[in-house]
Amino acid sequence: MIGIFGGTFDPVHIGHLRLATEVAETLGLSQVHLVPAAIPPHRGEPLLDPATRLDLVARSIADEPRFVLDDREHRRAGPSYTADTLAEFAAEFPNEPLVLMMGMDAFNGLPDWHEVERILELAHIAVATRPGSQAEGRAGEWLAERRADPADPAALAALADAPVGRIVPVAITRLDISATTLRGFIDQGRSLRYLVPDPVVRHFSRG
Ligand code: ATP
Repeated sequence: MIGIFGGTFDPVHIGHLRLATEVAETLGLSQVHLVPAAIPPHRGEPLLDPATRLDLVARSIADEPRFVLDDREHRRAGPSYTADTLAEFAAEFPNEPLVLMMGMDAFNGLPDWHEVERILELAHIAVATRPGSQAEGRAGEWLAERRADPADPAALAALADAPVGRIVPVAITRLDISATTLRGFIDQGRSLRYLVPDPVVRHFSRG
């Protein structure tokens, strides 16, 4: 199984990298492709330009063999729709179940994503949960209907047999960090040290 983890990564931080690490470990994923969005459809213009966001992810994951930087959304014209990205991965890896990884905040917004039904026909979804985080509304109904328990070895094995459409909640370490907070720190000239990987610290402490 291959993990796919998209985000704006404006900038990448340890909350992102721990999510990718802990979900990969729990599900036994061979690879996680980190896919920075070029033109995020759900938000305004990022602070960092696309090349910088990609470069910081590349340098932050350089010594983690399981992680792969994927710049396909930057090579594609137009908005970065996850459904299109998953369709490309499915064509490239026809024999590997795909697992789309996201945090609970993103999962709760999933019902509003472009072509969400197509997304559920192309991949499983792993939702990183934290104490107190809850699936709501339509996302909550999907979780109830499609849930696969990661603590149950048979349920994990079944992900490979029914290679799309299951939703796996994965409990991860709570790290209350957001890129929004970090951009505030950057704006105020405050240190990002210990909240982000060292290449990101160095990028913002230059000059
Ligand atoms: P912003 O504050 O700019 O919205 P963000 O820090 O939430 O950014 P994104 O790039 O928007 O980061 O998020 C990518 C994915 O990472 C989403 O699925 C989100 O739920 C998840 N995520 C972000 N921060 C954390 C965190 N601290 N712990 C767990 N998951 C996180």
